[in-house]
Amino acid sequence: MKSFRKIGVLTSGGDAPGMNAAVRAVARTAIGYGVEVMGIYSGYEGLIYGDVRPFGVRDVSNIVNHGGTMLYSARAPQFKTEEGMKAAIETCRRNNIDGIVAIGGDGTFRGATDLSSRGIPCIGLPATIDNDITATDYTIGFDTAMNTAVDMIDRLRDTCESHARCNVVEVMGRDAGDITLQVGIAVGATAAIVPEIKPDTDALIEKIKASRTLGKRNFIIVVAEGLGGDFGEELTRRIEAETGVESRFARLAHVLRGGMPTLRDRLLASRMGEFAVDELMNGRSDEVICNINNEIAAVDIQYALILDRMYKKTLKDGDLDAFSKEQISEMQAACARRLAYIESLYRTVNRLGL
Ligand code: ADP
Repeated sequence: MKSFRKIGVLTSGGDAPGMNAAVRAVARTAIGYGVEVMGIYSGYEGLIYGDVRPFGVRDVSNIVNHGGTMLYSARAPQFKTEEGMKAAIETCRRNNIDGIVAIGGDGTFRGATDLSSRGIPCIGLPATIDNDITATDYTIGFDTAMNTAVDMIDRLRDTCESHARCNVVEVMGRDAGDITLQVGIAVGATAAIVPEIKPDTDALIEKIKASRTLGKRNFIIVVAEGLGGDFGEELTRRIEAETGVESRFARLAHVLRGGMPTLRDRLLASRMGEFAVDELMNGRSDEVICNINNEIAAVDIQYALILDRMYKKTLKDGDLDAFSKEQISEMQAACARRLAYIESLYRTVNRLGL
């Protein structure tokens, strides 16, 4: 077992409900090993400017059930510079921090690999409501965001039914349609539109017309943020103009990022946080903790980042050079499985929303 003087924990990038449960799990597990813990505030910014504080067992009390992040989060572009990195390393040395658990998204993991390569072992925990980290089936915050969206859309549906309206609702998710599709099925949407699959809006217009003729009063269309521009607003105008159904647009935006984390997110965050510290103690570094087929497992950060690029079709020349043929075909299979899952959800929402 590796010996640590102090383990630092930080939350970085976009916040997500459940980050606090992860911070608590990291702190409590480390303290259980007899290792001291430092809370690093505002992500990598806190590491650059030395905004750190020792955490005892009680410093993470009463946060498992709270949204947001008690460590705060920030984008720290300075961290990508040599000076920023030097300052961060210096903060670690000064405070005897010799291992870090970094909770966030892919940007956070890139920062973690930079620190690892300079001698501070880091482990990443995937926390984002978007569920857009390909290596893990679920990210911390995704479940809460979806439950919040379901609650909001159920309310819209009530009033749509009263007034025989259509509501187009945009949900977050960056370039991923995961939230849109699962929420779309759960709220009984007429359709869900996501960036991964080219939409057939003409067919949707016809579907709404046909359902209205058969007496359907309320229509919910869930659209993903990643469709960009004014996709949702324009679709709303088009539906009203071409079907005669009064239509409104709602953007749920950041409301999905807040609120009390669900059981699933607390559980996932707690298990991942515990696992991350176990990995550090076992001498591991440069890993993202993932949830694969309901098991908590560690995936090499470089592998996870490149897998992500493969799925998002943003691979650059040379990205695959460091991987074996077997690894590359394993990545391709993982991407195909993920896309097949998205496609199957898409079929379900559209088949059931009649
Ligand atoms: P997320 O972690 O949610 O993807 P960001 O992409 O904003 O969010 O990244 C969070 C932080 O991680 C950034 O503000 C920056 O400090 C650090 N970071 C992002 N990209 C890199 C990179 N390529 N190299 C080093 N650090 C990075």
